[in-house]
Amino acid sequence: MFDLTCTGFINTHVHTSQQLGRGIADDVDLMTWLHNRIWPYESNMTEEDSYISTLLCGIELIHSGVTCFAEAGGQHVAGMARAVELLGLRACLAQSIMDSGEGLPASWAVRTTDDCIQFQKGLYEKHHNTADGRIRVWLGIRQIMNSTDHLLVKTRDMAKELKTGIHMHVAEIPYENDLVMETRKVDHGTVTFLNKIDFLQDNLLAAHTVWVNNTEIDLLSRAGVKVSHCPAAAMRMLGFCPVREMLNAGICVSLGTDGAPSNNRMSIVDEMYLASLINKGREVYANGTTDPTALPAETVLKMATINGAKSVLWDNEIGSLEVGKKADLVVVNPFSWPMVPIHDCISSLVYCMRTENVVSVICNGKWIMKDKKILNVNEEEVISAAKQASSELLRRAGIKIPTRMNVL
Ligand SMILES: [Zn+2]
Repeated sequence: MFDLTCTGFINTHVHTSQQLGRGIADDVDLMTWLHNRIWPYESNMTEEDSYISTLLCGIELIHSGVTCFAEAGGQHVAGMARAVELLGLRACLAQSIMDSGEGLPASWAVRTTDDCIQFQKGLYEKHHNTADGRIRVWLGIRQIMNSTDHLLVKTRDMAKELKTGIHMHVAEIPYENDLVMETRKVDHGTVTFLNKIDFLQDNLLAAHTVWVNNTEIDLLSRAGVKVSHCPAAAMRMLGFCPVREMLNAGICVSLGTDGAPSNNRMSIVDEMYLASLINKGREVYANGTTDPTALPAETVLKMATINGAKSVLWDNEIGSLEVGKKADLVVVNPFSWPMVPIHDCISSLVYCMRTENVVSVICNGKWIMKDKKILNVNEEEVISAAKQASSELLRRAGIKIPTRMNVL
């Protein structure tokens, strides 16, 4: 009887800065979520908060077997980089970038487009290819509603010059598409406009991408754009993503957790299970009946591994267990109650495995978790620092979370 060994999982949409904000925006509408909770929270973060938040997030990622992740664009890349280096993980880090939009916190509203570009160039020069090559720096675009056309074009050009990727939230809600049609004079939404300005390229990682029509799916496919599907966050706030149609069109779709205030659980293991179930059930809307053959286990496992590697432009070194690739791998104990009995290993990994089955993790040839013990940081100390940093940050940001203990 042997443990199962699998290539490390790749989480292609994580907000490491938001880990200290877990639970600050449960059961609220999207605009309250953004304007009254997340922006005040993120705009009051210090670099130390970002460091502690990334440590806490990284611990949860490692426990679920993640060896590489793509930061969606958060606060203080320097804090993130320090934490990633210490944890031993691999990551593509990006700053949250916005140069326009309604309701921005005062400290963000003063940034010019050129400030945004120059700042990111500085981050790239300082942090790209550091930590034994485990850290790469990408460019961030938070979303189209907070970007001028000038910022989009400059970002496109700088990514080409630096030979790096761009991480952006794309077509998240119908309102976004409506606003783009109205202000940018195109006949559909964000993807149609991004195509018009030649922003759709094979180095673009588009998160969510829920509200796209067939023409836009075709545009994404032809340009080689990668899509990060975040099943839990989509169900909570955005809607059903046409994953099957995208995969059929040849788009590289991978999996992400999104941030803790959008999902609460940073487990790629849970996302694999959800991705399959949600997309089987979604067929009711697409074809009138559920389809148990939609997104089978092999497809979902590929989304969490090799498609993840392609999405972060790193598939020459990670995403599969092959001679010549980096040693990023996960050891799973399949002999406890969630996984016994096993008939088909791939089915068991996708449909039965829990985070608790992941026992050991190697990244870049080094153990970073062994027998469920995180090796490079003291988990209890990080938890204690996170509790304190979170309450101080919420106090500074003036965020009060109503307690619902009285219903128990
Ligand atoms: Zn996100």
